Amino acid sequence: MLHIEKLDNNPVVRDLRETKEILWLNPDYVPFAQARLALTMADIDDAERRLQRFAPLIMKHFPETIPAQGIIESPLVRIPNMQRVLQENKQMPIDGTLLLKQDSDLAIAGSVKARGGIYEVLKHTEELALRYGLLREQDVQNGSAQAYEALAHRKDFFHQYTVQVGSTGNLGLSIGIMSAVIGYQTVVHMSADARQWKKDLLRQYGVTVKEYESDYSSAVKQGRALSDANPNSYFVDDENSKNLFLGYAVAAKRLKKQLETIGLLPNEQRPLFVYLPCGVGGAPGGITFGLKQVFGDAVHCFFVEPTQAPCMLLGMATGLNNKICVKDIGLTGLTHADGLAVGRPSGFVGGVMKPLLSGICTVADCRLYQYMRDLLETENIFIEPSSCAAFAGLRYFSQPAMQKYLEQHNLTQRMPHAIHIAWATGGALVPKEIREQYQHTYL
Ligand SMILES: *Cc1c(COP(=O)(O)O)cnc(C)c1O
Repeated sequence: MLHIEKLDNNPVVRDLRETKEILWLNPDYVPFAQARLALTMADIDDAERRLQRFAPLIMKHFPETIPAQGIIESPLVRIPNMQRVLQENKQMPIDGTLLLKQDSDLAIAGSVKARGGIYEVLKHTEELALRYGLLREQDVQNGSAQAYEALAHRKDFFHQYTVQVGSTGNLGLSIGIMSAVIGYQTVVHMSADARQWKKDLLRQYGVTVKEYESDYSSAVKQGRALSDANPNSYFVDDENSKNLFLGYAVAAKRLKKQLETIGLLPNEQRPLFVYLPCGVGGAPGGITFGLKQVFGDAVHCFFVEPTQAPCMLLGMATGLNNKICVKDIGLTGLTHADGLAVGRPSGFVGGVMKPLLSGICTVADCRLYQYMRDLLETENIFIEPSSCAAFAGLRYFSQPAMQKYLEQHNLTQRMPHAIHIAWATGGALVPKEIREQYQHTYL
């Protein structure tokens, strides 16, 4: 039993309870060389190679990925006009260069979930194919394009198996579309937060969508129980999955190449700040893990959560991780940021982030629509409201706590050279009429 009343003495919990917009700096953040980690760069390399092996199958099922040779990756672009608007109208003191990582445009799923979700479905597919002789060990060793592409003709085989997942929407889209196309019977357990168009789209793919009146944690729980009762069913466990996490982490290696291409490789003189919208923690956690492996102390990662659903902040700041949820401190967990509407964080991710994450900040829903309109007006780029949380990470540079962070890490003089990446996590699949609704939403 949790003694919530003790938490009342915790000033961070008090601010969260009052739905203040805050920046929390992680007191357990250490130099990368001192971080003890259960996963390594070799795990990320392994995931990257697996995605490469499956590229022929992905091209076969999704011809739109042929130009990128079956690799699902997103652009990294400069957004100078947005930077100017944030600096001038919103009075955010942004030194350096602001970039947008457009996972909002990732192929197939139109969100960051295309990284982790698709990776986990492919990993499961490889395991089944190996076990039942659709792939041979040497096909895996050699990355036989022919053998992997041939899996596209074995929908009958995969149809004997079921894949299930609990979701607030986007993970369901990613897992659902990929699983259904490979041939699996697919069940997506959608929390009350999920938007209707996402359910409709999945049903068009032949996915069974189960709808719950309850929140995300409870949709996951029910999905897990149903899946466990079926020996031929595989459950993608967003709260604990190392596969999802590693699929997300691959982003870092690809980002390094993109930064290299535009001549902005981070280093001691040129720090990189990354702002990641956070729900249960898997996507921002996996990406942060990858970025720390690739850039070490040159990268500073911050998560952003809605003021009504700051589950990772609550878990990390209290040290209780998944033993506490936002309802325990009187928050509703309800937010317009449907992709971030999670009340209880991943305990696994909280543990891995402890030495790696610089901090977490919170954002009020009303700002999300404003950032969305600003980005559309200044750069003609649409991203969904959840995704816009990333921009709130830039609000805190003039605050004393952040200034102290910069001083502690010897960054104050280097800020004119800093690179800031707002990580846009979703948007491409949002239908036109919903985009228009969003454009006219003022809270
Ligand atoms: C899922 C999602 C996130 C956060 O990912 P988690 O793994 O839940 O933390 C951020 N933005 C969007 C749009 C999402 O769909």
